[in-house]
Amino acid sequence: MTDMVDVLIIGAGASGAAVAWSLSDTRMRIVCLEQGDWPNSSKFPSTGRDWEARQMSERSFSPNQRQAAADYPISEDSSPIKIANFNGVGGGTVLYTAHFPRLHPSDFRVRSLDGVADDWPIDYETLAPFYAENDRMMGVSGLAGDPAYPPKSPSMPPLALGRSGAALARGFNALGWHWWPSDSAIASEDYEGRGRCINLGNCIAGCAQGAKASTDITYWPAAVRAGVEVRTRCRVREITCDDDGRATGAIYYDEDGAERFQAAEVVIMACNGVGTPRILLNSKSRRFPDGLANSSGLVGKNLMFHPATLVTGVFDEEQDGHRGPHNWLWSHQFYETDPERGFVRGYMFEANRGMGPVLTALGGVEGGAIPIGEDHHRAFRQQFNRTTGLVILCEDLPEEHNTVTLDSTLTDAHGIPAPKITYTISENSQRMRDHATARASEVLRAAGAHTVRDQFLGVGGWHLMGTARMGADPSRSVVNEWGRSHDVKNLFIVDGSIFVTSGGVNPTCTIQALALYIADAMKQRLANLFD
Ligand SMILES: Cc1cc2nc3c(=O)[nH]c(=O)nc-3n(C[C@H](O)[C@H](O)[C@H](O)COP(=O)(O)OP(=O)(O)OC[C@H]3O[C@@H](n4cnc5c(N)ncnc54)[C@H](O)[C@@H]3O)c2cc1C
Ligand code: SF4
Repeated sequence: MTDMVDVLIIGAGASGAAVAWSLSDTRMRIVCLEQGDWPNSSKFPSTGRDWEARQMSERSFSPNQRQAAADYPISEDSSPIKIANFNGVGGGTVLYTAHFPRLHPSDFRVRSLDGVADDWPIDYETLAPFYAENDRMMGVSGLAGDPAYPPKSPSMPPLALGRSGAALARGFNALGWHWWPSDSAIASEDYEGRGRCINLGNCIAGCAQGAKASTDITYWPAAVRAGVEVRTRCRVREITCDDDGRATGAIYYDEDGAERFQAAEVVIMACNGVGTPRILLNSKSRRFPDGLANSSGLVGKNLMFHPATLVTGVFDEEQDGHRGPHNWLWSHQFYETDPERGFVRGYMFEANRGMGPVLTALGGVEGGAIPIGEDHHRAFRQQFNRTTGLVILCEDLPEEHNTVTLDSTLTDAHGIPAPKITYTISENSQRMRDHATARASEVLRAAGAHTVRDQFLGVGGWHLMGTARMGADPSRSVVNEWGRSHDVKNLFIVDGSIFVTSGGVNPTCTIQALALYIADAMKQRLANLFD
């Protein structure tokens, strides 16, 4: 057993970093246990010519394909959408594409507005100062004045539109539909010791330039300087508790595989929408036989992704190819509910740049656009550098039958039961996707594409939300309106698990704003936090 700490954070990803940094000014003793390592940017794929091959193997965003020591297997045969993540300091932000939209104010009130799901126990205005603080810490490029949002001020000018962005903007303008340069956690100019983006175009396997805001290079250095200890290669098995129902600490395996116990006054879960319910469900005791913090039975339920489709246009004119950040322009034209469309809520389009040469060839052969044999090179030239597209992100509504449970046989390298994903795409999401695919096709045609094709992104389970939702009613939620477990008073959750609804935008800036907001609420109640 190691000395008692004041705060034990589990998971060093997007939310774990934000909550650690915010709490560090209290001078409490804070330790973070993380199963992975610190990333080493000098070894990122974009430093070598084989970057695409590595992006599809040891640097894949699928943990089941990557199978690194830090990864745990995920049983996902019962889901058409497969999990994407990264296990290490920085978590998913090491591989994310850093598209950084906030939720809309309406996202917090879907029950009131549309009669579906539930309202959040907090609203946009509550989170607004924490969104702004997070933008400053991560460094966000963008353009003020977007009519889709209340006023906000990005830290840096927007990323350049480039040829692909200009073509898409032409398409949206021709149809009279909303578009705007995205908020992006990628530095368009040098920012707080980080170099600006140099368009390497390999954000999704890690940014060796340091332009992309992953928390290993934003929050963590500041938190560590302020005294937070990050213990890497430490995999947590379970949270322990006493007979009074208070969390007492965590049992984990250290880098040598030895079992250890870390005692703590307060425990904060930050392992994402799959990792957190997995640990809670594994933390069974006499007092909590169905898993910790689970008196509502909702731990692991209401899993939400954003069912995503990529619609690609092929142009006669050269586009940017893969050179530049993946997402840099958005449209919220179809974000809010319109009953005439036949579904509730809505979706966002995010611009998606072309592929590198290997992925262009592989995708072209697979989809039939590029033959093997005589005509191969001519067909390749017609595709390479001549595509650009739109990714559709559909709002996914919470449904209790979409779950993270424990697999009955699969375990990780330490013998800890692995998570199992059971998920079906709802009829509402399917209707939304069909509507969005047709609209994206119109934009690309109006932008000048001569061919348009669409592809459901089954690999795209990168947004993991809802599996320990927040709410005022303990029978309908796992944590309260400031992230504290209804059942275990010194247990908090700050990651994507606590989302009540998913919105139709990438979640990370909201996850981090929530983590900062929860840390702030904890600091305001420091005196009674340890009661
Ligand atoms: C390829 C890809 C692209 C993406 N693009 C975007 C984007 O453009 N915009 C956006 O908003 N989001 C994007 N995301 C999603 C984004 O990465 C996540 O929303 C975000 O990282 C989630 O934050 P989190 O704190 O909930 O969890 P994570 O960042 O996933 O962190 C969880 C951490 O907990 C650790 N952990 C888990 N279990 C244990 C355990 N038992 N013991 C110890 N440690 C443990 C993990 O190793 C991990 O480091 C993308 C993700 C991927 C993979
Ligand atoms: S495009 Fe920019 S952000 Fe992406 S990897 Fe290259 S330098 Fe980094």
